[in-house]
Amino acid sequence: MPLEVLIGIGFAALVALALALRKLVEWISFPCQFCEAKVRPFRKVDTETQEAILRYFRDHERREAPRKELFVCLNCKTVHDDFSGEKQSWDSDRFGGVTFCKVCHAAMYGCNPKNDDIKCSRCETPYAWQVHEPSGFRFLMPPKGTAVLKSSRGYIDA
Ligand SMILES: [Zn+2]
Ligand SMILES: [Zn+2]
Repeated sequence: MPLEVLIGIGFAALVALALALRKLVEWISFPCQFCEAKVRPFRKVDTETQEAILRYFRDHERREAPRKELFVCLNCKTVHDDFSGEKQSWDSDRFGGVTFCKVCHAAMYGCNPKNDDIKCSRCETPYAWQVHEPSGFRFLMPPKGTAVLKSSRGYIDA
């Protein structure tokens, strides 16, 4: 095989490897849709912060959120939970503001912080980006006491 061909194959392999690595890095750490800082998996934040975040889910949504599916932006103090589009379709929707309704799991678009009129078009549950005290973190909240699904798992294609 001529040397040029070998070099060509080697180069193509390197490019493929670089692309695969980039994909992997993105998968492990995708950017926050609000401030574009990298978000951290829940287990990578300190215990105090973890407790504060879990308290929100217990107090406000009355559920144990799946910890593996929570991502935290420490830069703008936002929690992206298991219903956020970032978690479920991060290849195609990095900044689209898609979130799945916590009541009926319909996709909701335009769930960005500037939108103060977020409402599920199927079940009409209103949502708002609000800061939860005392954690100080921002969550996309349904009204307190709303009966929500236990988790987003199993509803991905609904
Ligand atoms: Zn952020
Ligand atoms: Zn709904």
